[in-house]
Amino acid sequence: MKLQNSLNFSGGPGALPESVLLLAQQAMLEVPELGLSVLGISHRSDWFASVITETENNIRALLGLPRDYHVLLLQGGATQQFSMVPMLLMRAQAQAAQYLHTGYWSGKALPEARLQGPIDVVWSGASRDFKSLPTSADLNFAADAPYLHYVSNETVEGLQFHRVLGRDDVPRVCDMSSDFLSRPCEAERFSLIYAHAQKNLGPAGVTVVLLRDALLQDAPSNLPCFLDYRQQAQAHSNLNTPPVFSIYVTLLVTRWLLHEIGGLAKMAHINQAKADLLYQAIDSSAGFYQGRAAAQDRSLMNVVFNLATPELERAFLRQSLAAGFSGLAGHRAIGGIRASIYNALTLPAAQALAEFMDDFQRQNPA
Ligand SMILES: *Cc1c(COP(=O)(O)O)cnc(C)c1O
Repeated sequence: MKLQNSLNFSGGPGALPESVLLLAQQAMLEVPELGLSVLGISHRSDWFASVITETENNIRALLGLPRDYHVLLLQGGATQQFSMVPMLLMRAQAQAAQYLHTGYWSGKALPEARLQGPIDVVWSGASRDFKSLPTSADLNFAADAPYLHYVSNETVEGLQFHRVLGRDDVPRVCDMSSDFLSRPCEAERFSLIYAHAQKNLGPAGVTVVLLRDALLQDAPSNLPCFLDYRQQAQAHSNLNTPPVFSIYVTLLVTRWLLHEIGGLAKMAHINQAKADLLYQAIDSSAGFYQGRAAAQDRSLMNVVFNLATPELERAFLRQSLAAGFSGLAGHRAIGGIRASIYNALTLPAAQALAEFMDDFQRQNPA
């Protein structure tokens, strides 16, 4: 069976733009301006320092990020951030940090935070099987919490917040791992944003953290260096050997966003068009496809749906693979179908999947 990168709907690591893959391939042999393979260059070289600086500057430019934010390129994935955030912000705090439990990934952050101190789960979608997000009326944010933590896009369930949550006087912390740089995000309203690269902006191995400098003023001084944002910032993301290749490819993706796509407003426009095609296919199927997320909370990145029976879902996955599509199986936690339409997945690819869905329905009348 031959699969196609252009039809890769993987939930993560996700597809990357073809132009980026070609440049990465070339850099594997030799980086054009250097003549060396990207896999054999010192992380202490001037060249790599310029890679870090340009990646950081590109992210700043894409988001219009104020100067008082650090842009860090760390390891350990989003999972390490589940611990680093409370290690920085919760120590010696009597008040509980506030957390939203809106799905699989926000749930994974809870036990890690509890290891560091008290947390208050402001709202949980568990009783409604994580099929919708809270409205503003459902939420009561405390003025004295050390911070609020939430996930902007629940990758597994296909739920996405289309507004910023919380209070302006309490630090907002957001896991944007699956929708970072997919749309403008009002970064200046958050104290800390983190996103690993492998869903929307590069290969696995690097995690982008944006954090406001003021957060570091009271940072504890007894943290292991690797888990200490202050030391990571002082070392300019080069505290120990960083994942050079992953960071280089992330740089290529930020260049692609800036120069080929033309910025985040344009990216958001394309992403909306892709999502519209697939939700339209679901909504016009007379119930043959059942969207999982409540309509107002639908994700523009992960389109999650079911068919009437597990057998029909298996047939859908089998036939879609035969047609060259891949990555459409739902997350192992909930099954069903999930089409992840991250930045690199093109509009024609979303169109092809919508057409496949129509064809499949015609061939399998209820
Ligand atoms: C995939 C995902 C994670 C897990 O990230 P790792 O890098 O594997 O630790 C965390 N949060 C969200 C929102 C995700 O989509």
